[in-house]
Amino acid sequence: MAEYSALSLLKNAFSGNRDWKPAWRKPAPKPSYDVIIIGGGGHGLSTAYYLAKEHGITNVAVLEKGWLGSGNVGRNTVTIRSNYMLPPNTRFYEHSMKLWENLSHDLNYNVMFSQRGVLNLAHTPGQLDDYARRGNSMRHQGVDAELMTPAEIKRLMPAIDISTNARFPIVGGLMQRRAGTARHDAVAWGYARGADRRGVDIIENCEVTGFLRDGDRVVGVSTARGDIRAAKVAVAVAGSTGRVLQLAGIDRLPIESHVLQAFVTESIKPFLDTVVTFGMGHCYINQSDKGGLVCGGDIDGYNSYAQRGNLPIVDDVMAEMLAMFPSLASVRLLRSWGGLCDMSMDGSPIITTGPLPGMYLNCGWCYGGFKATPASGWCFAHTIARDEPHDLNAAFTLDRFQRGILIDEKGQGATPRLH
Ligand SMILES: Cc1cc2nc3c(=O)[nH]c(=O)nc-3n(C[C@H](O)[C@H](O)[C@H](O)COP(=O)(O)OP(=O)(O)OC[C@H]3O[C@@H](n4cnc5c(N)ncnc54)[C@H](O)[C@@H]3O)c2cc1C
Repeated sequence: MAEYSALSLLKNAFSGNRDWKPAWRKPAPKPSYDVIIIGGGGHGLSTAYYLAKEHGITNVAVLEKGWLGSGNVGRNTVTIRSNYMLPPNTRFYEHSMKLWENLSHDLNYNVMFSQRGVLNLAHTPGQLDDYARRGNSMRHQGVDAELMTPAEIKRLMPAIDISTNARFPIVGGLMQRRAGTARHDAVAWGYARGADRRGVDIIENCEVTGFLRDGDRVVGVSTARGDIRAAKVAVAVAGSTGRVLQLAGIDRLPIESHVLQAFVTESIKPFLDTVVTFGMGHCYINQSDKGGLVCGGDIDGYNSYAQRGNLPIVDDVMAEMLAMFPSLASVRLLRSWGGLCDMSMDGSPIITTGPLPGMYLNCGWCYGGFKATPASGWCFAHTIARDEPHDLNAAFTLDRFQRGILIDEKGQGATPRLH
């Protein structure tokens, strides 16, 4: 497959762009593989890529029930950050950040990674103290963090309302400058192309409908395109984890599926060149290259497998956006959509061997799995290849919920919508 380069762009421009080859093949499933990965989202594809690249395991199939990128990887609001406080999270997400920093080069695919910074606004002195604590913890662990004053925030985003008589006055903020955004589709396409180039079969329209068993051991899957056997079967289906594991007879998991919505406004002139989050509720905004303001908030308040949401969240997000930027009052909302989030009970993920022999599980990404995509795939590939976790995902076990060793970043307890 051709390398993408300035030269190949020029060459194809002269031939009317008729000679580009498809970025990945459309193979028919083989009867068996060394590894099957269920789910062609960001995590499934990055796992396949790192299995091939880091461990030389290329007899791999990624089985996707729809089209590649039809899940959350193509629906998220693209925020990437490593501003966590608890060491297992900080280490893991910082590893992800480092992979992001070289990802376009590594994949030979422009994922449009933009380190434009992520700023969390504080609205009370207590909240600012809390941010200072998190920032100090990050800096202790080698991650960049910076407290900002209202005047510095105003210089960064002139449209923000920092007046002291605002409903939620801004008293400061915690900035991570290396954080930012990437183009989500490009991440799926780049990993797919990278995995395919190393021999991985990416099979779309191939829903897994059951597991093949030899006693307790999982030895393959039944799919819409026939049975496929494999020595190892890895599950990376995000919001569909409950449904897929039910096919293996596992119906109790520390995961709830909820709809998370996102919104985009009509395009406006350059307005915001960082990602900003509202601290008195849940609203995050960035401006896309096309000029639309991309924003999101809380999950809808009920469990669901529907990929569309309800009006109360629209109301919340818009009210919070206007609290920060009153001048946006006449900007029109263009579109909204929803994705299925796999909310874990402590807000942290699960990347582990099991729960059955021959099975490997990756889930619990809550609101934050896009930024985890590189490290998740990297750690999951290690776990599958070596049959044991890497140091970076050793804490992300399934049995931590039974053993009481939660990684509850915000100290909120088992309330998915608060993580
Ligand atoms: C609106 C929204 C905004 C978000 N914003 C952010 C953000 O700003 N930053 C951030 O870090 N994270 C964000 N997230 C979270 C992030 O998108 C997810 O955590 C992450 O994408 C999940 O991993 P994935 O990419 O592998 O999931 P997905 O892309 O959902 O992949 C799972 C795949 O499994 C497939 N599948 C399901 N069942 C089967 C089956 N039986 N057989 C075969 N295939 C199957 C699905 O079709 C799907 O393609 C957001 C999520 C949403 C919904």
